[in-house]
Amino acid sequence: MANFNIDAKQDRTYQAIVIGSGISGSWAAKELCEHGVKTLVLERGKDVKHIKDYPTTNMLPYEFEHRGQITEEVRKENPVVSRCYAFREDAQHFFCQRSGASLCTGKTI
Ligand SMILES: Cc1cc2nc3c(=O)[nH]c(=O)nc-3n(C[C@H](O)[C@H](O)[C@H](O)COP(=O)(O)OP(=O)(O)OC[C@H]3O[C@@H](n4cnc5c(N)ncnc54)[C@H](O)[C@@H]3O)c2cc1C
Repeated sequence: MANFNIDAKQDRTYQAIVIGSGISGSWAAKELCEHGVKTLVLERGKDVKHIKDYPTTNMLPYEFEHRGQITEEVRKENPVVSRCYAFREDAQHFFCQRSGASLCTGKTI
């Protein structure tokens, strides 16, 4: 006899769905959960692990090959994200690169 999961529909039914796990969505989800609301958070970006995915946080300027600056070559390859002040050698891994896309937390497309 097959082992049917008759609770599947109920298990996957939520009282609240939060789109995006930025500070706004995360805080909303935290508040909802703390008030007992069954909450689903959907995030389209990559899974950024705290500490592990911040490899440049404790680096000093002289530890970067280009002292933190973006090279002209990288700038030309990334005309859109290059307009962002934060697109620097220490943070470039968080940006979509080599495409016409705007900021999207590090996916190369
Ligand atoms: C480069 C940079 C540096 C910054 N530095 C600072 C700083 O030093 N200090 C400071 O206080 N603020 C800083 N800010 C501002 C701060 O990051 C934002 O104000 C804050 O992140 C906004 O939070 P939010 O939750 O509204 O949006 P976001 O953080 O943008 O979160 C939105 C989330 O929703 C997800 N999402 C979007 N659409 C969908 C979808 N359709 N389905 C699923 N998920 C989706 C996105 O992937 C994202 O994770 C910085 C911003 C940038 C861009």
